[in-house]
Amino acid sequence: MAQIIDGKAVSKQVREKVAAETAALKEKGITPGLAVIIVGDDPASQVYVRNKEKACDEVGFYSEKFALPASTTQQELNELVMKLNKRDKISGILCQLPLPSHLDDKEVINLIDPKKDVDAFHPVNVGEIMIGDYNFLPCTPAGIMELIHSTGVDICSKKAVVIGRSNIVGKPMAMLLLHENATVEITHSKTKDLKSITSQADILVAAIGKAKFVTADMVKDGAVVIDVGMNRDENGKLCGDVDFENVKEKCSYITPVPGGVGPMTISMLMKNTLTAAKIQNGLMK
Ligand code: NAP
Repeated sequence: MAQIIDGKAVSKQVREKVAAETAALKEKGITPGLAVIIVGDDPASQVYVRNKEKACDEVGFYSEKFALPASTTQQELNELVMKLNKRDKISGILCQLPLPSHLDDKEVINLIDPKKDVDAFHPVNVGEIMIGDYNFLPCTPAGIMELIHSTGVDICSKKAVVIGRSNIVGKPMAMLLLHENATVEITHSKTKDLKSITSQADILVAAIGKAKFVTADMVKDGAVVIDVGMNRDENGKLCGDVDFENVKEKCSYITPVPGGVGPMTISMLMKNTLTAAKIQNGLMK
């Protein structure tokens, strides 16, 4: 039976490290600051934003929330981002997605100063991830790398398969695994005979958005299985993309949902904000 990777515990370690570094920065008169913009009243987004504010308090950051009405225009949103780009107190800017449908998220992302782009969605940061010379990593894939590292499994030369090719999870995930010398295959909804590919994976990352999609017959014996999915099962209970109960009998390590990848994402956002503050204060290149 697999060992369960405890995302809460790894996440706590990351936050403690960020808090300790923040305390040291404060002694030099530097306080990392995060601006979070939320437009409209999507309940899930409100929860995410609240959790981000709480995490900022926990690690000792300054944080500011900009809650804008759903009627906000593109110009008003763009102007806020440009104002925040210039403010010294703000090290990182995050615009909570999805935005209401009349607003263009690409336009907003492209306006954020890449040095303050703590979500790592700006094309400059995406390009740097491709090259392998980066300061910011998108929070979910970066958190997953921490979880894999926590197992002690050596990624080098392993066969890694990523299911899903989104810009925020699948694609950057594949890049990070490649940078650590895994042999990586990216799969998606048009992939033929998915099972024949996933069942060869030493490391399998599922980022699909379909409840319990990955079944035990799709998984290699002894694989490391990372479940990014956040879905509701037939009883409305939170569940991942992996059929946890059956797959855990077959693999060596597995992340649960909840309590796996989820807690890591905000911790990596804290890490990116700290990095941003260091860069803006000349303590890092
Ligand atoms: P997404 O943008 O909807 O991408 C889903 C991917 O899955 C697409 O590339 C899609 O392929 C692929 N896919 C769909 N059906 C498939 C199938 N039958 N076989 C193989 N691949 C298939 O989703 P996302 O933003 O990457 O998120 C994925 C999941 O992770 C969601 O449940 C989301 O809620 C969760 N998530 C969790 C966190 C966290 O912090 N825990 C963070 C981000 C996302 P095509 O490209 O061909 O359509």
